[in-house]
Amino acid sequence: MDMESAYVVRDGVAVVSFDNPPVNSLSATQRKRLHEQIRHAAARKDIQAIIVTGGAGPFCGGAEIREFNTPAQKASPTMPELIEGLDGINKILIAAIGGFAYGAGLEFAMAMHYRVAGAYAQLGLPEVKFGFLPGAGGTQRLPRLMPMEHAAPMMLSGAPVSAQQAFDFGLVDALSNGDLLEDALTYASKLIAARMPLRRTSALPARMATAPADLFASLRADIHKRTPGHKGKLGIVDCCEAATTLPFETGREFERARFLELLASPESKALRYNFFAEREAAKIAGLSPEVQPREIRKATVIGAGTMGAGIAMCFANAGMPVALVDAQSEGLDRGMATIRGVYDAQVDKGRLTAEARDRIVALVTPTLDLAAAVADADVIVEAVFERLDLKQQIFRDLDRLARPGAILATNTSMLDIDEIAAVTQRESDVIGMHFFSPAHVMRLLEVVRCAHTSDEVLVTVMQLARKLKKTAVLSRVCDGFIGNRMLQRYLQQALFLLDEGCSIEQIDGAMERFGMAMGPFGVGDLSGLDIGWSIRKRRYVEQPEMVYSRIADRICEAGRLGQKTGKGWYRYEPGSRKRLRDPEAEQIMQAYRAETGVAQREVSDAEIVDRLMLAAFTYKGNGAAEIVRRRKRVEKLRASNRRKRDAAMITSIFTRDGHPEAYEKEMIQALIADEMKFGDEVPSGTYIDMATNLPIVDPKKILSPVLMLRGEFDGNSTNDDLLDFYRQLPNGDRQFVIMPKVPHSAGYSKNRHLLYYALRNFLAEPPSAA
Ligand code: NAD
Repeated sequence: MDMESAYVVRDGVAVVSFDNPPVNSLSATQRKRLHEQIRHAAARKDIQAIIVTGGAGPFCGGAEIREFNTPAQKASPTMPELIEGLDGINKILIAAIGGFAYGAGLEFAMAMHYRVAGAYAQLGLPEVKFGFLPGAGGTQRLPRLMPMEHAAPMMLSGAPVSAQQAFDFGLVDALSNGDLLEDALTYASKLIAARMPLRRTSALPARMATAPADLFASLRADIHKRTPGHKGKLGIVDCCEAATTLPFETGREFERARFLELLASPESKALRYNFFAEREAAKIAGLSPEVQPREIRKATVIGAGTMGAGIAMCFANAGMPVALVDAQSEGLDRGMATIRGVYDAQVDKGRLTAEARDRIVALVTPTLDLAAAVADADVIVEAVFERLDLKQQIFRDLDRLARPGAILATNTSMLDIDEIAAVTQRESDVIGMHFFSPAHVMRLLEVVRCAHTSDEVLVTVMQLARKLKKTAVLSRVCDGFIGNRMLQRYLQQALFLLDEGCSIEQIDGAMERFGMAMGPFGVGDLSGLDIGWSIRKRRYVEQPEMVYSRIADRICEAGRLGQKTGKGWYRYEPGSRKRLRDPEAEQIMQAYRAETGVAQREVSDAEIVDRLMLAAFTYKGNGAAEIVRRRKRVEKLRASNRRKRDAAMITSIFTRDGHPEAYEKEMIQALIADEMKFGDEVPSGTYIDMATNLPIVDPKKILSPVLMLRGEFDGNSTNDDLLDFYRQLPNGDRQFVIMPKVPHSAGYSKNRHLLYYALRNFLAEPPSAA
């Protein structure tokens, strides 16, 4: 490259620009470019200062995550070589930060001598969200620029600060309200005129003057309390402390070692995988770019129960007026009391001002008058009892009462939404919006596309989900959609463990120590045991071959439906959510065990975690019979000799005697023996698990067990239906997303953390049992 023309020079100041849209990530190529240009400019006698900028757009979004753990990450100049190299430059270095500087982008800026930021710029170190820490000097430089009591929390939360805050803290030296580059050039000429020194951040002491004496101890205590064992966060605190006790160079080495350790951890790998999977999940294949979302300004929620109240809060939190309708005034009063209670508690904890609470609560209008409430609503979410006849009646009413163009959504957990839509004259406006309990807290929102849902309605609801701060995952109509299918297996396995002699405390405890906010029985009591009970009753009829413990039914039959009845798996004092051991529940469980004669044994916590987590991704089947079925299927497929190029699928079975690996191997061998190539045609018979856009996969490196995060279900949950649906899609549309990438050959136990952490993100808060 012709270096002279690679960057601009104005009045003795070189302007080096990022050039890696869309976010100017520091890929290997970008690092090399910047490194060469800065060094070239630094060697010139006619240059006194160097400005690095991304212009008015992003300064730099950070490292290129896709290059992590690849040779590109190690290509010279590595990130440390680029960033630490700046300390060897003897010209004034100025970062001119437009849109944002994140991660390594901010670390790079912090290694320069001065920073000028646009008034609306954002600066942040989000590494913790990916399970690691700023590893290119960030933990050592940030507390040298801003006070430790602000620097450490900024890295621990991963949330960005505004340019103004950064200026107030000392992270930024000047703000620009006009043309960023002009202002940076003016700033540079002032520094040159005043003969300001090269202010190397590494030479500054850590800013501890205003930090409380017990800062690090209290940060660690807080991490242990809120996110036990979070390695990334604990590493950040260790590095911050090192910045106060060690010389810069040694502190950097300390940081680098922690960073590399975390980067290779399964937790971090899974979090990164999740990041991309969630981004993918927001995309819908096959939609015309012309499809425009409808405007949503006013909402109505029908049913002021557990879910309705929570959903109304989601709208109010997003600043949208919402009418909350119930058939009973007691129901309405209870719903409004729940809503007020939630916000009052936030005021008590200092998270919300009383004025903000009043403003939010005022957005919710309780009413018994359905006709008036829906007349001008743009979106209506039904959340009444889980009964098809009742929901159909409500949709008939909505068909009459709602204005044309209103979106009619249902929060049903398990019912066939196509049957609900069918009673209306506007099936294209009907869609599922399946919130999880507690709706105002849980991030996941399953958007259920019905047979006739229009693209416009789909796009509108996906956009609405973002406004409501939810992660939308698209599903087709099927039994349990996606999340509940996983949870069903997770709970089923928990019940088997109870049969085998585990206590509810042991199971909940093991899952909570593992990292779940709440174990399965605590969750069941929280969201109510009756919903699962009624689903099981239906399944006993529909799927009589299903193996399921009846232990939970016995609990429900005794009138123990969870917190709402003061007792479920646990017992609760009035007004308290504290779980108490209840001898009556113990007795019910003992009687059941004695009756069924399941062998009792000691189960380790590790086995509990393994079985529950693996079950969530897999299907409980009858091992041998399943293999035979699969073999037959494979043969049939071979005979039909249909070939598909770009599909790959693997399913996994968790047998009750606990040898998933052996089982899978046998299954795969069956496939190999039949000379079936993965990707040719896919055997089915169990739980979802399709991945596309993959090349033909070597069975030895097969992805196992996979979760379809985003995809389109059709039919009624059998894989044959799913596959048929899948086959009808044009190739480009086959964008199923799989979550944990687990090479089979590496073995289940070695990789199980990937599964855990992928799911854990899903279940970061108490999941709903229904
Ligand atoms: P709930 O029993 O707590 O509340 C239902 C509310 O609907 C009650 O207040 C009732 O008075 C009201 N209602 C009944 N008939 C009505 C009518 N005709 N008009 C207006 N209001 C009426 O139930 P819930 O747990 O909030 O569940 C509601 C829906 O959400 C169900 O379809 C359920 O499957 C689904 N869901 C529940 C959960 C959960 O964890 N509880 C999670 C996801 C989805």
